Amino acid sequence: MLERASKISPLQVKKHLPGKNCGACGTTTCMGFAVKLLGKKAKLEECPYLKKAEYIQSSLALKELLAPVMKRKETRLVIHESLCNGCGNCVVNCPPNMSCSLEASGGKGPTSRCVVLKMKNGVVEEVNLSSCRRFEDEENSDSEPCRLCIDACPFKAIEFL
Ligand code: SF4
Ligand code: SF4
Ligand code: SF4
Repeated sequence: MLERASKISPLQVKKHLPGKNCGACGTTTCMGFAVKLLGKKAKLEECPYLKKAEYIQSSLALKELLAPVMKRKETRLVIHESLCNGCGNCVVNCPPNMSCSLEASGGKGPTSRCVVLKMKNGVVEEVNLSSCRRFEDEENSDSEPCRLCIDACPFKAIEFL
């Protein structure tokens, strides 16, 4: 199972980097590059060593480790499909979903463009993250970020980073 994105540390990432601290990736140290990778501000291809045959195992390990980070969307939402059992709790507890379409919030009706989450093939998927309250919260930093979908999930299949 993939590690939860929020639990991956820069040290874990650095462990698989070449350790040359050469700066060829545009960052002076491998640790700095690891931090950038976790923040989605750098790509593995920017380290020239990782393209070499001798580092293929490291490259594969990094791809696997960083997979949840790569899945992260603009609202920092990560849905762990492998943990989702399709109960729909998150869908019906999301306030923008409820306010824009009761039918869509149950996952049965035609999808309204303002729906944030919906069910597809027994797994939740994001439809329009710009309707997520977390976008509004970014403009109003005094408010607590919405976490209703996270709290509604019995399987910890949703996280925001
Ligand atoms: S190019 Fe690779 S080896 Fe050099 S500092 Fe960056 S991550 Fe480390
Ligand atoms: S954080 Fe709130 S608004 Fe955003 S998807 Fe989850 S429940 Fe909906
Ligand atoms: S509440 Fe959790 S398990 Fe249920 S549909 Fe949402 S993500 Fe999947």
